[in-house]
Amino acid sequence: MPSEKAEQKTAGQKIESGVQKDSRYSRQILFRGIGEEGQRKLAAAKVAIVGCGATGSALAGLLARAGVGTIRNIDRDYVEPSNLQRQTLFDERDAAESLPKAVAAARKIAEFNSEIVVESKTEDLVPSNIEALLEGIDLILDGTDNFETRYLINDYAVKNSLPWIYTAAVGSYGVTLNVLPGKTACLSCIFPDSPHGMVETCETSGILNSAVNAVASIAATEALKLLIGGADSPNLRKTLLSLDVWTNEHAEISAAKPHAGCRACSERDFIHLAGVGRPHITLCGRNSVQIHERQRPIDFNEMNRRLQPHGTVKHNEFVLKFFRDPYEMTLFPDGRAIIKGTTDAAVARSLYARYVGS
Ligand SMILES: [Zn+2]
Repeated sequence: MPSEKAEQKTAGQKIESGVQKDSRYSRQILFRGIGEEGQRKLAAAKVAIVGCGATGSALAGLLARAGVGTIRNIDRDYVEPSNLQRQTLFDERDAAESLPKAVAAARKIAEFNSEIVVESKTEDLVPSNIEALLEGIDLILDGTDNFETRYLINDYAVKNSLPWIYTAAVGSYGVTLNVLPGKTACLSCIFPDSPHGMVETCETSGILNSAVNAVASIAATEALKLLIGGADSPNLRKTLLSLDVWTNEHAEISAAKPHAGCRACSERDFIHLAGVGRPHITLCGRNSVQIHERQRPIDFNEMNRRLQPHGTVKHNEFVLKFFRDPYEMTLFPDGRAIIKGTTDAAVARSLYARYVGS
């Protein structure tokens, strides 16, 4: 692929500037765990960050400043005012413009590190696009807010022997796990099924920005160890770590070995990759439903004309917003929609069918 060659060339040039004395990375190169060789490896590395909300923003910000050569941000959502308390790559203008998070993140990173490659993918990671979206990646970082996408990442990573790092934060605590396929437990080893019943979410428990940054900092450091030393790096943590920045509780569960009988890493039954029974997704932190199974390219000018008589319509090149009390529908160019004002998938589907098409 010609673009990949161009990127490699850019990464090579970056390496030289990265190892010069008093360069951008000089204080990091002085750290003995990294050094010049480590910095070169970071410059050549390609990571994907799935979800660019609170943890994803923190991870992307840290790794971009550290000089990871290529960062691919994948996010389906747009910036809103309620994100600004904890999503460190966004500002008030991004929220006013409803910019897609992946686009806003790339713009912000370019302002503090224009020497690395940042790729923006405003897409929902699903079984049908996961191979294309994660192609050429060395390490996957979890910035998502739901187990459905995490199991999908886990299936993909285990199947392709690719490391990934699970990271989650809610309320005042954060959880993280390094998954090194074939060496450590995977997400399905530890949680064979996604948690049922009362599950805390950002919507019910709120979230402290410090909990996000604490757990993201730990995960970003594990990412550096992995990118520099590989999966056999001796300092990589082999536990599921949880920490609470409010109560100061701290716990670790061993994840040193894959579990016998694990659906994913022992039986290699990748049900999430096969897309078995994917439901509509209710997003975290909001009273909203996403319609994600459509493949319906949308002409925003035409849609604007069509929706004008029915409510208020605003659009830019990335998103179209349609307000019809009590609902707010955000449409993306590929036909995907986020419908705010309901948690009922049937209501959301019917609004979509009524105003966009069935
Ligand atoms: Zn497993």
